[in-house]
Amino acid sequence: MEYNFERSLDELGRVVLPVDGRRALALREGDILSVQVDPQQQTLILKKQTPSCLICRGTENLRPLPNRTWLCKACINNLNK
Ligand SMILES: [Zn+2]
Repeated sequence: MEYNFERSLDELGRVVLPVDGRRALALREGDILSVQVDPQQQTLILKKQTPSCLICRGTENLRPLPNRTWLCKACINNLNK
Protein backbone atom coordinates (compact mmCIF):
# COMPACT_ATOMS: atom_id res chain seq x y z
CA MET A 1 0.00 0.00 0.00
CA GLU A 2 1.45 3.34 -1.05
CA TYR A 3 0.46 6.50 0.77
CA ASN A 4 1.56 10.05 1.43
CA PHE A 5 1.77 12.02 4.63
CA GLU A 6 2.72 15.50 5.74
CA ARG A 7 5.01 16.36 8.62
CA SER A 8 6.73 19.57 9.69
CA LEU A 9 10.48 19.91 10.20
CA ASP A 10 11.67 20.68 13.69
CA GLU A 11 14.30 23.31 14.46
CA LEU A 12 17.12 20.81 13.72
CA GLY A 13 15.66 19.71 10.36
CA ARG A 14 14.30 16.41 11.67
CA VAL A 15 11.07 14.71 10.60
CA VAL A 16 9.32 11.96 12.54
CA LEU A 17 8.18 9.19 10.19
CA PRO A 18 4.68 7.91 10.98
CA VAL A 19 4.55 4.56 12.70
CA ASP A 20 2.48 3.03 9.89
CA GLY A 21 5.20 3.92 7.38
CA ARG A 22 7.93 2.52 9.63
CA ARG A 23 6.00 -0.70 10.13
CA ALA A 24 5.31 -1.06 6.40
CA LEU A 25 9.07 -1.08 5.73
CA ALA A 26 10.02 -2.85 8.98
CA LEU A 27 12.22 0.13 9.86
CA ARG A 28 14.01 0.06 13.18
CA GLU A 29 16.16 2.50 15.09
CA GLY A 30 19.63 2.52 13.51
CA ASP A 31 18.47 1.43 10.04
CA ILE A 32 20.10 3.28 7.19
CA LEU A 33 18.04 5.38 4.79
CA SER A 34 19.53 6.85 1.64
CA VAL A 35 18.31 10.30 0.71
CA GLN A 36 17.81 11.38 -2.90
CA VAL A 37 17.41 15.14 -3.26
CA ASP A 38 16.19 16.75 -6.48
CA PRO A 39 16.17 20.56 -6.12
CA GLN A 40 14.60 21.06 -9.56
CA GLN A 41 11.61 18.86 -8.68
CA GLN A 42 11.62 20.05 -5.03
CA THR A 43 11.64 16.43 -3.91
CA LEU A 44 13.47 14.46 -1.27
CA ILE A 45 13.06 10.68 -1.39
CA LEU A 46 14.04 8.34 1.46
CA LYS A 47 14.92 4.75 0.59
CA LYS A 48 15.56 1.92 3.03
CA GLN A 49 19.01 0.45 2.60
CA THR A 50 19.61 -3.26 2.98
CA PRO A 51 22.89 -3.88 4.81
CA SER A 52 25.42 -5.74 2.67
CA CYS A 53 29.01 -6.94 2.95
CA LEU A 54 31.59 -4.25 2.19
CA ILE A 55 33.61 -6.74 0.08
CA CYS A 56 31.22 -9.14 -1.68
CA ARG A 57 27.88 -7.29 -1.28
CA GLY A 58 26.33 -10.43 0.20
CA THR A 59 23.52 -10.00 2.70
CA GLU A 60 23.90 -13.20 4.76
CA ASN A 61 25.76 -13.70 8.06
CA LEU A 62 26.76 -10.06 8.40
CA ARG A 63 28.88 -8.70 11.24
CA PRO A 64 28.85 -4.96 12.02
CA LEU A 65 31.92 -2.78 11.62
CA PRO A 66 32.35 0.83 12.75
CA ASN A 67 30.65 3.55 10.68
CA ARG A 68 27.60 1.37 9.92
CA THR A 69 29.45 -0.91 7.53
CA TRP A 70 29.30 -4.69 7.39
CA LEU A 71 31.40 -7.73 6.55
CA CYS A 72 30.03 -11.23 6.01
CA LYS A 73 31.36 -14.21 7.88
CA ALA A 74 32.90 -15.72 4.70
CA CYS A 75 34.88 -12.55 3.93
CA ILE A 76 36.02 -12.27 7.55
CA ASN A 77 37.26 -15.85 7.33
CA ASN A 78 39.09 -15.08 4.05
CA LEU A 79 40.75 -12.04 5.64
CA ASN A 80 41.97 -14.15 8.54
CA LYS A 81 43.75 -16.69 6.28
ZN1 LIG B 1 31.41 -10.75 2.07
